[in-house]
Amino acid sequence: MKYAIYTLGCKVNQYETQALESMLRERGFLCADRDADVVIVNTCAVTAESGRKSRQAIRRLQGRNPGALTVVCGCYSQLEPEDAAALGADIVFGSGDKHALVDAIEKALPVTNVDDPFQRRVFEPLPAGAVSGRTRAMLKIQDGCDNFCTYCVIPYTRGRVRSLPPEACAEQAKMLAAQGFGEIVVTGIEIASYGKDLPGKPGLADAVEVVAKAAAGVRIRLGSLEPTVVTEAFCERLGSLGNVCPHFHLSLQSGCDDTLKRMRRKYDTAAFLAVCERLRAHFPGCALTADLICGFPGESEGDFEATLAFLQRCGFFFVHAFPYSRRPGTKAADMPGQLDRAEKEARVRRAQAVIARLQQAYLEGCVGRSLDVLFENVHEGHSGNYCPVRVEASVRRGTVAQVRITGVEGDTLVGEPE
Ligand code: SF4
Repeated sequence: MKYAIYTLGCKVNQYETQALESMLRERGFLCADRDADVVIVNTCAVTAESGRKSRQAIRRLQGRNPGALTVVCGCYSQLEPEDAAALGADIVFGSGDKHALVDAIEKALPVTNVDDPFQRRVFEPLPAGAVSGRTRAMLKIQDGCDNFCTYCVIPYTRGRVRSLPPEACAEQAKMLAAQGFGEIVVTGIEIASYGKDLPGKPGLADAVEVVAKAAAGVRIRLGSLEPTVVTEAFCERLGSLGNVCPHFHLSLQSGCDDTLKRMRRKYDTAAFLAVCERLRAHFPGCALTADLICGFPGESEGDFEATLAFLQRCGFFFVHAFPYSRRPGTKAADMPGQLDRAEKEARVRRAQAVIARLQQAYLEGCVGRSLDVLFENVHEGHSGNYCPVRVEASVRRGTVAQVRITGVEGDTLVGEPE
C-alpha cells in the first residue's frame, strides 16, 4: 500500500506526521507522491487561514490521487469533523489517538473518531525521529495547554497539559542520539507547562536536563517558550549543560501592555525585556526569535507603534508576524474593536519591514564569529543560533563543523570551515 501525506501547522504537527509515517512504514506502507492508495492530511486550525489551507490540501491530494482512501486528522478536523467529512474524507480523526488512526488506515474502513480533548489525561507516546534523510529530529515532550489566551483555539483542540515522563524523555533522546541525529528539537504545544501533570511536578529545566544528558554531544534546541518559564535558575541550569543551542523562540504576541492584558498573557513588556536580557547574559550572542500578532481587537495605532518600538528594544533576530485571526469560540472573537483585514495585513507589512532590519543587524553581528553549523547538505546548514550558513568547501552532510563567518549574502551567512 502506498500513502501520500501533507502536513500543515506547527512543529508538533510535523512531529506527529513523522511519527505516523514511521508507524505506517513499520506496517509495510510506502510513501509515494502519485498513485497513492491512501492520502493523509494532518491539518491545522490555529488561524482561519490554516483551516482554509487544510481544506485546499485535502482537495489537492484527492485530485492527484483519484480513488484513494482520504484520511484527515489534526486540529482542524478536531474542531470541524463535519467539514472534513463533507470534503469526502473516509477516515476523520482529531488531534489525538495516532495509534488507533494507524489501525483504521490499515483496515481501510470509513470511520470518524473525534474525542473530547478535555477528557485526555495521559500523554500519548509516539515514536520519534525515525524518518530517514533528516539531520534534525523532533522530540515531543508535552501536549495540551491550560492557558486559554483570549485569541487562541488550541486548548479546545488539544485539551489539558499532558507530559512525557522524564525517564521516557531520556529514553527517546538516547535513541535519537544513537540514530545519529545532529540535533534534537524539544517540542510541545506549551512546553513551559511541562510536568505539572506528573508526580513530583518536574519542570521544563528537568526535562531539558535529562534530554541533554542522555544525548550528550547532540545539539538540543528548545521549541517555542512562554517567557514566564525563563527564570535565572532556568538559564543557569540550561547554560551549564553545554549542548543547548543559543537560540530561544519566545512567544511575545504584542509589545503593548494593554494588548497583552486583553490577550490574557501572563507577563508585561518589562518582564519580557528582562527575559531577553537574562538569556543574553547566560548565552552571549544568542538569537532571540518571537511570534507577533498584528491587529488584535482594540489595538490602536499607538499600541501598534509601541509594539514596533518594542521589537527593536528586544533586538530580535527574527519575528514571525501574523495578522490576528478571529477564531469562533474564543473570548477575543467577541471583543469590540475588531480591525478589518486590510489594516491587519498593513500592520504585518510594517512589522516585517522592522523585522527585516533587525534580521540584517543580527546577521552582520555574526561576521567574525565562529559558529557551530549542522550541515543539511554538503554546502549549507544552520548554526546553533539558527542562522542559515553557506560554505564553498564540501562538508559531510549531518556533521556539525565550526565555521568562521566572513560575510552576509541576503539572509544567509557565508564562511569557511575551520
Ligand atoms: S499559551 Fe496561549 S497561545 Fe499558546 S497554546 Fe496556550 S492558549 Fe494558545
